Amino acid sequence: MTVLVTGGTGYIGSHTCVLLLEAGHDVVVIDNLSNSSEKSLERVEEITGKKATFYKCDILDTEGMRKVFSAHKIDAVIHFAGLKAVGESVAIPLKYYDNNITGTLRLLEVMGEFGVKKMVFSSSATVYGVTDKMPLTEDLPTSANSPYGQTKLMIEQILTDLCVSDDSWKITLLRYFNPVGAHESGKIGENPRGIPNNLMPYITQVASGKLAQLSIFGDDYPTKDGTGVRDYIHVVDLADGHLKALDKLDAQKGVEIYNLGTGVGYSVLDLVHAFEEANDLKINYKIAPRRPGDVTVCYADATKAARELGWSAKKNVVDMCRDSWRWQKNNPNGYEA
Ligand code: NAD
Ligand code: UDP
Repeated sequence: MTVLVTGGTGYIGSHTCVLLLEAGHDVVVIDNLSNSSEKSLERVEEITGKKATFYKCDILDTEGMRKVFSAHKIDAVIHFAGLKAVGESVAIPLKYYDNNITGTLRLLEVMGEFGVKKMVFSSSATVYGVTDKMPLTEDLPTSANSPYGQTKLMIEQILTDLCVSDDSWKITLLRYFNPVGAHESGKIGENPRGIPNNLMPYITQVASGKLAQLSIFGDDYPTKDGTGVRDYIHVVDLADGHLKALDKLDAQKGVEIYNLGTGVGYSVLDLVHAFEEANDLKINYKIAPRRPGDVTVCYADATKAARELGWSAKKNVVDMCRDSWRWQKNNPNGYEA
């Protein structure tokens, strides 16, 4: 089938393009390159020997999207495009609401005009808000701690309402846990602009000497070693979840929600030590105060995705650490030479 991937030059999008092309799909990417480089798609081509068609296009640009939908017979959309930095979303909420929500509304409008009614959407475990009901199941109540989280919740609601209004829409909401790792070729990976917010890119940049020291945000949480616990998932496993979701869309009625996680929680210190062991390196770190807004523990119950999509994570924490480091080591400046 022909799949339109919004945000397809980004971190998760580029890995998903690899798997889509390898599975024989035609891939059309739109991205405004606000947080990515077109070079990721050259690397995707190096890996797969196949080319995705790229349009520099904003999801706020209705006319631009109409041109793309006119030029290709799109069967389904995987919708990654969005702004994703929690802290930044607190500082510039209107930009986040406009980009993520208005952008999604415009995309849906164009999809409707062209009769394309299948979508897989990137949601996040952040929609579970603060709860101690672990592991997290898809039926738990949702809430948001930030404008970013609000945009995910609101888009989930919009997509659900759309499916209720018209049963020819089929939409899957994938709630990602913590994506890390990179393609095993070392050719594509996470390419944060400026100082990374997330733990794994911070660790790899300390390992490479680009950053001096990791700050571990809090060692007084009620966890086994006092540091926060998350469900880290290899980005290639995550990408595979999108293909499984896509395969099931035809048979699906309305909206479905799936957690994509491993079901296993690692503490910050677990991850630091796993990285050191996997790569035979030392990470310079210090304990720092808690980061405002962080939850203590967050890990998935991923049994619904296993049962209904036949999906489960295959890669372990050693793969995550090795692949993240290979990408960073081979590409110290991301996609820039
Ligand atoms: P990313 O920033 O690497 O990719 C997002 C892409 O969307 C970027 O290439 C960016 O240029 C593009 N984009 C942003 N606004 C756009 C617009 N208006 N029009 C066109 N393109 C636009 O991020 P990622 O980590 O690959 O995340 C992909 C999706 O998954 C996002 O929706 C994100 O919120 C969601 N998600 C990410 C994580 C994570 O930790 N990485 C966790 C949960 C959910
Ligand atoms: N973390 C940390 N130092 C950093 C970045 C993150 O100690 O420089 C911790 C953070 O407090 C959390 C975990 O690592 O417990 C994962 O954080 P990340 O930002 O990667 O993901 P999220 O908070 O969105 O789950």
